[in-house]
Amino acid sequence: MCQVEEEYHGPLLREELPRQCVKCKEASAAVVIRAGDAYCRGCFKEYFIHKFRAMLGKNRLIFPGEKVLLAVSGGPSSCSMLSQVQEGLSQNAHKKLRFLPGIVYIDEGGAVGQSVEHRRRTVEELRAVFRATGFPFLMVPLEQVLDLPSSVVLSAPGAPEQEAGAYKAAVDHFLLSDGSSGVTAGQQQETPPPEVQEAHTHSLQRLLGSARTLTAREELLNILRQHLLVHTARSAGYSKLMLGDSCTRLAVKLLSSISLGRGAQLAHDTGFSDSRYGDTILVRPMRDYSAKEIAYYNRMFSVPSVFTAGLDTKTADKSSIQHLTESFVIKLQADFPSTVSTIYRTSEKLQSCKGSASAEGDRCLLCVCALDTAAENASAFSATLISEQLSQTKSPGESRQAPEWTAPASQCCSIVGGELCGNRGGGCCSSAKASESPPLRSLLCYSCQLTIKDMSSEEVLPQYILSEAERRLRRSQLREEIRDFLLEDEADEG
Ligand SMILES: [Zn+2]
Ligand SMILES: [Zn+2]
Repeated sequence: MCQVEEEYHGPLLREELPRQCVKCKEASAAVVIRAGDAYCRGCFKEYFIHKFRAMLGKNRLIFPGEKVLLAVSGGPSSCSMLSQVQEGLSQNAHKKLRFLPGIVYIDEGGAVGQSVEHRRRTVEELRAVFRATGFPFLMVPLEQVLDLPSSVVLSAPGAPEQEAGAYKAAVDHFLLSDGSSGVTAGQQQETPPPEVQEAHTHSLQRLLGSARTLTAREELLNILRQHLLVHTARSAGYSKLMLGDSCTRLAVKLLSSISLGRGAQLAHDTGFSDSRYGDTILVRPMRDYSAKEIAYYNRMFSVPSVFTAGLDTKTADKSSIQHLTESFVIKLQADFPSTVSTIYRTSEKLQSCKGSASAEGDRCLLCVCALDTAAENASAFSATLISEQLSQTKSPGESRQAPEWTAPASQCCSIVGGELCGNRGGGCCSSAKASESPPLRSLLCYSCQLTIKDMSSEEVLPQYILSEAERRLRRSQLREEIRDFLLEDEADEG
């Protein structure tokens, strides 16, 4: 997953440097960020640090004294984020960051088939980095995703909307009460990493292995990782989760998300803040930094990072949609330096559609975004649906069948809508036997449906997903049964 950053690890000063720093016009330049922007060492550091604080200040989302969990993968970007938080906490009073940071690392070694010994070494290396910060930290093996509660795929009610002046009031209050004594990072806890059972690693590998394509496997891994991160934040009392996505990574994510059918979720997937989980807000404070800037900074100021292999490490460009998009963007960027920033600027203009995703049933079971499957006729989803229906039509005379995923042949057609009922020939649909396999895909957004479709079996999904699916399907079945007794449409919302 650190491929993007690696590309920039070439010699630092490849470009021919102008002699002077454009900012202070005194010191000699040490780094060129964009053509014409040459900074000396000191000015570059100032620029970099300022950008982090400006990003947080502009968005005014993180309140003084709030607990914020930093998701650190060991890659250059999230490690740079960690160093910026450290930097921010050591600033003088009026520039100081005032939240309470903690760190979480998800050990994904099991997913990529690393040996126990290899995983232990990586964890040790990162532990040393985290210990040096003095922040509390958690090392969580990805295998723990198998034991999550179903509540993780529910959007919990968040804090009530803050008033416009609330942020300033909170800062003032904070300065009055705590003053410059400020916030300390809290007690650093040394919890031993939980033992990973071999059986758990095998279940995880079977789960990821059931995806027939690397594209689906990566999507699945992203979803599982996010569930585990959100659950860890929730159970440790953190209300914000900081992700280290750089602008380069977000540009790749934006394009690959479109290719994967996640157009409706783009604003959530790439924006500064992402509130799909309700009570735990995801924030991306590194989204203004290019991978190149980060690489320069980390090297000049000795920010440590630890290489961890991802699913697509050492695979060919065309091995997955995500990987192909990445190499496309990186190669284009090499010749056209404004590629990444142009794509990235687009993401800033996106807004999540104000759908009525208030009820849990309106959210995707996997990515927890509002369902896009009820979209207008022009969506890719409905196009796929029509083509599936057409391809299943055997001859003009024969009755049209519902697409396989909405209603398996053995299943009650009332789920699809009454009109197909008469076509079955088996009499009233209520006599059809209960569903053998639940139409899990009906609970997913378009893109997640594609991911599940690429899996050889849905049964290998973790229990918390399966049992939540069962609960939702039961509920909608129940709602269907009592529909005739309900007075009004509005009445069933309550
Ligand atoms: Zn300078
Ligand atoms: Zn989804």
